[in-house]
Amino acid sequence: MTRRPVRVVVASNVADFIAQRAGQAAPRETGGLLLGWWEDTSVVVRHAVEVPDPDATSNTWTRHEDAAQATLDAALRDLGHPWLGYVGDWHSHPAILDASPTDELSLRRASSQYAKPLALLVHQPGGRLDVRVAHNGHIRAARLGLPRPRSPATCAQPGEHDAPSPEWRPSQTGTGS
Ligand SMILES: [Zn+2]
Repeated sequence: MTRRPVRVVVASNVADFIAQRAGQAAPRETGGLLLGWWEDTSVVVRHAVEVPDPDATSNTWTRHEDAAQATLDAALRDLGHPWLGYVGDWHSHPAILDASPTDELSLRRASSQYAKPLALLVHQPGGRLDVRVAHNGHIRAARLGLPRPRSPATCAQPGEHDAPSPEWRPSQTGTGS
């Protein structure tokens, strides 16, 4: 089987949210979860949530599992969209550094617990997003894809699903919950 690069399609609200939270946390790291779904060989990232780490430093952010699960449950309930699920993680690097070997190791380990590829987005100063994908415990070639301008991150086969309706967009992603 051919191993095409996994495309990670990041909705613009996700990039904005991550940039905003990264800016607020700097010079410390912050991070959280990516919510979306899989489409063919793409990971569609439709939402991101933050899972604050009170002990984060300028080069570490730890995903606390209880807080992550609670945040995920609350987000899935609030967003109420049937396709949404956990598709990976994001965190910020206050310095211009790509995903570290430790970051890749964590992603590989996490991916062995899921049938589908998991994505990692690392935000760097200036808004650059470094993307990594792991599947079944291995790093896969990945590239960042931008949503099609007129139909951001909607399904490639419109007949199969209803298009996401505007109602499920969170009206205020900035409020704490
Ligand atoms: Zn990192």
